[in-house]
Amino acid sequence: MTKGKASQIIDDLKDGKIENNKVAQNDTPTPVRHRRSLVNDGQSDRPKKPILLLVFIHDDLNDYDKGKLYDNYFSWLETELEEISGRAVTVIFNSQSTTPKMTNYNYKNENAAEALRGWENKVKELTSKAENTFPFNPNLDKFLLLTRSKINSSVAGIASNRGQSAMATIDSYLTPAHEIGHMFGATHEDSDIVYDGWWHDTIMKYDANSPVRGNYYHFSEKNRGNISNYLSQFD
Ligand SMILES: [Zn+2]
Repeated sequence: MTKGKASQIIDDLKDGKIENNKVAQNDTPTPVRHRRSLVNDGQSDRPKKPILLLVFIHDDLNDYDKGKLYDNYFSWLETELEEISGRAVTVIFNSQSTTPKMTNYNYKNENAAEALRGWENKVKELTSKAENTFPFNPNLDKFLLLTRSKINSSVAGIASNRGQSAMATIDSYLTPAHEIGHMFGATHEDSDIVYDGWWHDTIMKYDANSPVRGNYYHFSEKNRGNISNYLSQFD
């Protein structure tokens, strides 16, 4: 485990290079409903602890259909992480009506690392308040701010490496999953491109040619291993 300050990963996703959300509609991933029996795979006496993905829908996405946001960005990710981890994975949406002080966070900042620090402080406040009523697991419960826009003209998302907090815009279907991947130990270096008649980026892949390639809604084998290794430290 890294000690002290978690390193920050800034994703430099340039304007116009990310697939446009409207264009991407044709590429909507098919949500696969997943059985929940993976909680206990029979290999241990105790079921592994579940993973909670707490997604805070920023106020600037209030007019978006939450069901669609879930289907497009998170339902397939739940399945993917359940398969990798053998844990139940649950995405919990929070919005203005439940957590107004979180979802109004002013995330736009020329300094993306500073924007993330501000978000981390919000998350710390929330988790410390909940300590007695609903203690969050710092290793398994992750907090993502989902935003309409980028943090600044070049940064679409940012996460603490193996940390608890991240921010991501909805400009590509892979961006929120990518930032969540960082929080579970996935890296750019171990990402991959998959070819099946065309090239597709696995979740952690991003470079100048990404806009030409399609999306592959899975982690690379190496990143599956990284996530698995990270989670194997915990009950
Ligand atoms: Zn990244």
